[in-house]
Amino acid sequence: MILDFFKQKHECHHNRVPLDVEEAYCPDCGELIKNKWYLVRCACCNIKRSAHSEYNEIKPDTKFCSNCGGTDFYIEELQSINFVDVHYAVHKKVIIPQKGYTTRQVWVEKDEHLLSEKKLIGVRD
Ligand SMILES: [Zn+2]
Ligand SMILES: [Zn+2]
Repeated sequence: MILDFFKQKHECHHNRVPLDVEEAYCPDCGELIKNKWYLVRCACCNIKRSAHSEYNEIKPDTKFCSNCGGTDFYIEELQSINFVDVHYAVHKKVIIPQKGYTTRQVWVEKDEHLLSEKKLIGVRD
């Protein structure tokens, strides 16, 4: 039973942490989770390339850039996500270590723009 509990905790994917907040405590494991967004850009022509994360590594979906045919790319960390970039950006949930921190209340402002765009998608579906 105890082993199962630890195993479960270790494998938490923090699925109940909403994507539209900057950071929040995971209701399933209690860790402070920060939503991070990354963009992959072509190193040659700088165009945004759609990407995914594979074994914790961020990679472009295609081998070659559709704009210039180049293969080199670089990863840009976004400070905040906007609706346009959602199509390209790779999302990661990162645990913020709590060691040495004093407990503080964090108020996170929701991105109203992102929320309303999401609603629009819902209507279209
Ligand atoms: Zn969790
Ligand atoms: Zn390119």
